[in-house]
Amino acid sequence: MKISTFVCAWCGLTVTTVDPDGRSRNHCPSCLHSRHVLDHVQGGSTECHGRMSPIAIAVLRTGDWMIVHRCVRCDELTSNPVSPDDNQLVLMRMAVRPLAQPPFPLETFGTL
Ligand SMILES: [Zn+2]
Ligand SMILES: [Zn+2]
Repeated sequence: MKISTFVCAWCGLTVTTVDPDGRSRNHCPSCLHSRHVLDHVQGGSTECHGRMSPIAIAVLRTGDWMIVHRCVRCDELTSNPVSPDDNQLVLMRMAVRPLAQPPFPLETFGTL
């Protein structure tokens, strides 16, 4: 596999397109932002090239974590596997965000 790099659209970090496990990656390990270059609905490449923000963590049945990205330009959602050197603080922050900001008042539970 040819190792190439891209420059993160968010923080400017130069990122290799292969992670330490030898898998291809499309997001920045530091801020986890990505870029919309693949058309996940149609397959192949897209002309969009919008910045993709990490918005949530999805957990697969295998226990693996996926990062859910949303394109700021066309709102397409994608999910990508987490790499071993991804920023764990940012990952944790995303994973607990729904717990920290529940869409209902916590008083619903009464006093525990
Ligand atoms: Zn970045
Ligand atoms: Zn897009």
